[in-house]
Amino acid sequence: MAKKTERQAFCSFCGRPASEVFLISGIDANICEHCAEQAAAIVAQEARHRHAEQPQLPLDLGKTPAEIKAYLDQYVIGQEEAKKVLSVAVYNHYKRLQYEAAHPEGAEVEIEKSNLILIGDTGTGKTLLARTISQLLNVPFCIADATVFTQAGYVGEDVESILSRLLQAADYDVAKAEKGIVFIDEIDKIARKGDNPSITRDVSGEGVQQALLKLLEGSLVNVPPAGGRKHPEQQFIQINTKNILFIAGGAFDGIDKKIAARLNTASIGFRNEERERTAVNLLRHVDATDVKSFGLIPEICGRFPVITYLDALDRDALKRILLEPKNALLRQYTSLLAMDQVTLEVTDDAIDFIVDKAVELKMGARGLRNIVERVMTDAMFELPSSKKRKLTVTKAYAEEQYLKRS
Ligand code: ADP
Repeated sequence: MAKKTERQAFCSFCGRPASEVFLISGIDANICEHCAEQAAAIVAQEARHRHAEQPQLPLDLGKTPAEIKAYLDQYVIGQEEAKKVLSVAVYNHYKRLQYEAAHPEGAEVEIEKSNLILIGDTGTGKTLLARTISQLLNVPFCIADATVFTQAGYVGEDVESILSRLLQAADYDVAKAEKGIVFIDEIDKIARKGDNPSITRDVSGEGVQQALLKLLEGSLVNVPPAGGRKHPEQQFIQINTKNILFIAGGAFDGIDKKIAARLNTASIGFRNEERERTAVNLLRHVDATDVKSFGLIPEICGRFPVITYLDALDRDALKRILLEPKNALLRQYTSLLAMDQVTLEVTDDAIDFIVDKAVELKMGARGLRNIVERVMTDAMFELPSSKKRKLTVTKAYAEEQYLKRS
């Protein structure tokens, strides 16, 4: 009997004897089936809790900069430098999130956010780049036009409405929005006029830059969920902007002169070489100094550590844009017509005509859509109710349709 008691094992958690329950034995302790079940439930609950606290998006991007660029290549033609710089910036952005998650109490080295400014003419792919990267990352994305903002108290939109839009794009999931990407278009239009800081209140430029700073600095911002003007009865939602990636875009008309001026003073003795630089090549040298002398306040420049440029699109690039990207315009029309069982054929000289017109329009790739829409409108109107099963767009047809709508 004594021997039996000695050998009798108990659950170390609830004390039930082995005669009543199924025991799993460890080195110094046992656990019964009931306690094991309870423990599993606690572990699952804790895991759920931890998962909810953690960002719901993958911290580990799982893609190298080269792979990110390869993805961009499918949608964005040319712009090699911008794609490279953006890929590295995004890669580092996610590295930074990973690093911060690994050092919740604050790390010795603080890795700066890789917000970036894209400088380039209209229709060269700035918005497309930002949108494509957000698709790759599967994060909420919104576009804000810097020109509609004013500093608090003036007629116009408050900068906080940018975050309302992001929140909307994230289906009101705050944690998701806090990892999103915001594209601020036309940032150059809120540049300070003249190099001197204004002493009077400047509604259009500096004031808005100051207001934007609040978002860029990585702080908790009270966001009216519906956007627009603040209403006292509206509940605010707090959004932390620390991990939101801001990408700003602008044409920065005339920045080449600032770059030229800086390069000339910095390189006396290389005058001839400098003189050979064309306006296009000058953009390759753009840096924060130029953006600052263009009229962005130093604090804003400081919040955009990465600056890169987009090339003007030449004839060859425009032609490729018309035909090559995964969602190229002509592919879109081919798919649209295919739904009406119509095959689309566009002859080479018609393509050349469209591209030539786009070059004339000087609206970058934006011009392509404009032209193709004019050329296709009649056909898109008539074909669904006709028996025709093939549309051939020749140069003559394209020209006729285009002129009709010019
Ligand atoms: P912006 O530089 O003014 O932001 P967008 O990115 O909005 O220009 O481009 C306008 C349209 O032109 C886009 O919808 C896109 O289809 C096309 N586009 C512009 N640049 C490129 C490019 N480099 N490659 C492919 N498509 C482009």
